Amino acid sequence: MLPLIAMTVATQTVLTPVDLAKQIDPKRMQATVEKLASWNDRNTNNPTCTEAAEWIAGQYRQIPGLEVEIMKYRLPKMARVPEEKEVVQVVATLKGQTDRRILVGGHFDTINMVDRENGLRARAPGANDDASGTALALELARVMSQRKWKNTLVFVAFSGEEQGLYGSKALAERAVKEGWKIDGVFSNDMVGNSANKNGQKDDKHVRVFSADSAEPGEAERTQSSRELARLIEFLSRGTFGVKLVFRNDRFGRGGDHTPFMQAGYSAVRFTEVYEEYTRQHTGDDLPQSVDFKYAANAAKVNLIAMGAMADAEEPPTRVRIDRTQGHDTTVNWKGQPGVIYTVYWRETTSPVWTGSVDVGPYETYTAKKLSKDDYVFAVGAHGGIPVEAR
Ligand SMILES: [Zn+2]
Repeated sequence: MLPLIAMTVATQTVLTPVDLAKQIDPKRMQATVEKLASWNDRNTNNPTCTEAAEWIAGQYRQIPGLEVEIMKYRLPKMARVPEEKEVVQVVATLKGQTDRRILVGGHFDTINMVDRENGLRARAPGANDDASGTALALELARVMSQRKWKNTLVFVAFSGEEQGLYGSKALAERAVKEGWKIDGVFSNDMVGNSANKNGQKDDKHVRVFSADSAEPGEAERTQSSRELARLIEFLSRGTFGVKLVFRNDRFGRGGDHTPFMQAGYSAVRFTEVYEEYTRQHTGDDLPQSVDFKYAANAAKVNLIAMGAMADAEEPPTRVRIDRTQGHDTTVNWKGQPGVIYTVYWRETTSPVWTGSVDVGPYETYTAKKLSKDDYVFAVGAHGGIPVEAR
């Protein structure tokens, strides 16, 4: 029998991601976008980019608990860069108990691709592209820093995006070099345009783009952009609509998730459903066209998924389907003591998880009357990225 020990249990209420999501403030996001759009431009070639980076870093520094870095990297000379130069972007870190990281970011740099006469001096307010994503990451930092998380959260304001994803390439290269463990990258690029000039409107969903995951039969991978996208959709239910797009990005377009995906990390892109192409990369990308309530809802989706992952234990390993013939399906995995696991399933043609169960600290689960021939199964630590059973 165990000896009785007098203990004082702190009755501290831990704010859940759902609680915290309610604190996302569209007005604060609007103030950030308006401030950023007040610079003539934030072209990475120009001093305005450095000024904006310093302002963003100053905003992050006001948040208790964050370590804020102005990260330097070199922008190579190329089509949109007249001369090679050292440029900056902002990386703010909220340290957790582990060094597993979840990144969220948007690019704060802008470009004008239509006003050739004024070149680098052309007006490029970039309110939606991508002050909206920059404001989203800053708002998440403000709200999520109110409590401690198991894993480490990283909030990024990327630059160099419009020249060819140079800021995200620099950070992804650094992550690989320094051996960062990244569970997920959430790139938000244009998350405030809920209607276009073509008469189309959708303020009820945000698109999440993801590259294909491992082919069936391949060794299990805990890094999969597609599985990250599926997890985000699963966790967002009841909060806001997620429209999954099973492509890495839009045709001929790029985003800051891509260098991370190419480096082997799970990385997705959030973008509004209906873009307005006539405003992008022009002097007309102004705050009055941004729907801040909509952008705040996109922020909530990010927060709920990021918060779940921020408290998740490591993914299980050796996730296997028992090959014995039968009407039920048994899934086995290697787990950690005391960790709650979630088993997911969907039919092979379903894009999203249609069933799930929390199974407690076990390493096996039998799904009754679900055939392994007809369903895909996966297992994740509660709130963490699922690993497909093979
Ligand atoms: Zn963009």
